[in-house]
Amino acid sequence: MQPFFERFSLRFSCTQCGKCCITAGDYHVFLTESEAQEICSHLQLSRGWFRRRYLRRLEEGDLVLASGTGDGCVFLSARGHCRVYPVRPLQCRSYPFWPELAGNARAWNREMRRCEGINQGEVVPLASIRRKVKACLEQDG
Ligand code: SF4
Ligand code: SF4
Repeated sequence: MQPFFERFSLRFSCTQCGKCCITAGDYHVFLTESEAQEICSHLQLSRGWFRRRYLRRLEEGDLVLASGTGDGCVFLSARGHCRVYPVRPLQCRSYPFWPELAGNARAWNREMRRCEGINQGEVVPLASIRRKVKACLEQDG
């Protein structure tokens, strides 16, 4: 069967609520080495300082962003804004059009609990959804 987003028009409008930047429990913001390098350059920090201050490596070896104060991502400002927005990782840029969410009706609708922008606003062009899903799949290998 075709993925959910191919069969139905999906609506989404981000309200900038910042809830997708909460990294509590086993939810992490994964990033590649090149994404980490891009953020480091954007912030004009030394590689060592950047890695110690902003990155963590999980037991399984995956690279993730550190948590900031509270449960937020280390780059989430007190006003709920992303401090590295132009160079945020693909995981953030593609949300909520991840294959496991946009591809499955139940998962998509369940995600409304986290993201208040899901099923709100205009229909998102299919080409844009496809691009994001594809980028996630390619990054996941
Ligand atoms: S990098 Fe930015 S968009 Fe991504 S979780 Fe952190 S604060 Fe949110
Ligand atoms: S949870 Fe959804 S509505 Fe809120 S900032 Fe993230 S993408 Fe936007």
